Amino acid sequence: MTDELWQAARERVPWVRALDSDRDARLRALAARFLHEKTVTPIGELTLDDAQRVCLAALCCLPLLEFGAEGLRGWSQLIVYPDAFRVNRTHVDAAGVLHEWEDELIGEAWESGPVILSWADIVADCEDPGAGFCVAAHEMAHKIDALDGALDGTPPLPRPWQREWARDFQAAYDALGAQVDHGRDTAIDGYAAEAPEEFFAVVTEYHFSDPRTLREQMPQIAAHLERFYGPSPFA
Ligand SMILES: [Zn+2]
Repeated sequence: MTDELWQAARERVPWVRALDSDRDARLRALAARFLHEKTVTPIGELTLDDAQRVCLAALCCLPLLEFGAEGLRGWSQLIVYPDAFRVNRTHVDAAGVLHEWEDELIGEAWESGPVILSWADIVADCEDPGAGFCVAAHEMAHKIDALDGALDGTPPLPRPWQREWARDFQAAYDALGAQVDHGRDTAIDGYAAEAPEEFFAVVTEYHFSDPRTLREQMPQIAAHLERFYGPSPFA
């Protein structure tokens, strides 16, 4: 990766621009490895030049600054839609009835398949980086979560830490779920209460995008994520 391309990523991606030189160098090495290992496939009318690909790689590797390149294991394709995309869902219920519906998504991570992102939402995240959203970090959190074979909101961790993590995340997830169930407005996006794995992915977005709100609302979760991801670039 040339200096010019990395410089372009620094200019366009606020999280990259905010890193100190040590973490900048580590992210650059991870992003280079990402582009070497992954196929980036734009869909439809979308085209992606080298600078845009470097931006995507840098965003996807941000959550790996401490965890390392191990977090890239097990998948090979990043698919990028121009904008939010529709997916068909099916579910067979307990009575054997097939339900089908359409979801509109801005990102998706298959357990052992591709990561899918909406380019328009990547751009929107970079234009308003403090708003609490970072779809690339959200989907990568799912990928890291799935590395131990269970998509459950707990990434691979040393044993003692894993116990603390599971206890603290369960408590915070339950508390948020109770607030959502009571119809209260929550400072953390209520989507986090959908499932433990969504909770982990959503608080990951806050760690990178709005660490102050996360620290105020969920200090123990903020502390775990600071240890896992390193300090937020916006801390
Ligand atoms: Zn998710």
